[in-house]
Amino acid sequence: MADPNPRVLPYGMAAIDEAARRITRGECVAVPTETVYGLAADAGDAAAVAGIYAAKGRPAFNPLIVHVPDLAAAERIAMFDADARELAARFWPGPLTLVLPLRDDAGIASLVTAGLPTIALRVPRHRAMQALLAASGRPLAAPSANASNGISPTRAAHVAASLGTRVPLIIDDGPCKSGLESTIVAGRTILRPGPIAAADLPFAAARRHGDAAITAPGQLATHYAPAKPLRLNAREARPDEWLIGYDSIIGDDTLSAAGDPVEAAARLFDALHRADASARARIAVAPVPMEGLGEAINDRLARAAHR
Ligand code: AMP
Ligand code: MG
Repeated sequence: MADPNPRVLPYGMAAIDEAARRITRGECVAVPTETVYGLAADAGDAAAVAGIYAAKGRPAFNPLIVHVPDLAAAERIAMFDADARELAARFWPGPLTLVLPLRDDAGIASLVTAGLPTIALRVPRHRAMQALLAASGRPLAAPSANASNGISPTRAAHVAASLGTRVPLIIDDGPCKSGLESTIVAGRTILRPGPIAAADLPFAAARRHGDAAITAPGQLATHYAPAKPLRLNAREARPDEWLIGYDSIIGDDTLSAAGDPVEAAARLFDALHRADASARARIAVAPVPMEGLGEAINDRLARAAHR
C-alpha cells in the first residue's frame, strides 16, 4: 500500500526550486499540466526514467511523452516536416503530442522511446510544467502520475492517493483544466484522441484504434523488437549467440551485474540495439526475475522472442 502522506508543496518558487533540484539528482516529481498531473523525470537520464516505471509499477514499457519548453527545444530532439511545424505553430503550447523521427544526437534515454526511432513530444501550456522545464533546463519525460491501471490524476490529492511516497514531491497547482490526456498525432494519423479534435487539425486525419497496424505511408511501429532471433532464460551463449547477461550471468553485455532490475531497465533497449548491431546472428538473454521492473523487462523480452 502506498504511504498516504507524500510531500506536497503549493506551486511557487520554493516548489519549483526543490522540484528542479530533485530532477537534476535523477528523481521524479509530480507536476500538473493542462491535461493531467504528470510524473516527470530527466528524459536524458535512463536511471531516472526507470524510476518513473518503478514508481508507477507498470508491468510493461510504453514509450513516454517528452515535454519541452518550446519548438526550438523540440527541434533539437526530433525532425520536423511541414505538417509537424504547422501543428506546432497552431497548437503549442497546448495538449497536442507529436510523434516524430528522433535525432541521433538528441540525448534521450532509449527507455523513453522504448527503443523506437521515433519520439513523442509536447510543449505544455501549464505554468507549473513550464516553470519546471525552465528551472531544470532538461527535457522531461512524464506519463500520468498514477499507479499502473489507476485513473489519470487531475488533482494533487489523486497523485498522493495513488503513488504515496513513491513520489518524493508533488507540486499542487489545483485541478487540471482539461483532465483528458493530450491528443497524439503521428504524421496525419491520430494515435490517441484527446482535447484537440480531429476536426481542428489542418488536414484530414486518419484514426488509429489500439495497436492496429498502420497501412498508410511511413509505417509506425509501436514497439521496438530486435531483428534477430532471441532466446530467453539463457545461462550461457551458444555458438553465434550474443549473450545479454543479468546478475551472476555475465554476457557480452550485462543488464545489471548487481541484479538490480531498475538498472537493468535503464540499460535494456541499448543492450538490445547493441545485440542487433553485433556480428553474431542470434541473441540470448539471461533470466531476469519477475520482481519489481523485472515484470516489464520480461514482457518486452517475451515480445522480442515471439515475433
Ligand atoms: P502517456 O502515458 O500519456 O505518456 O502516453 C504515452 C503514449 O504515447 C504511449 O502509450 C503511446 O501510445 C504514445 N507514444 C509515445 N511515444 C511514441 C512513439 N515513439 N511512437 C508511437 N507512439 C508513441
Ligand atoms: Mg496514463
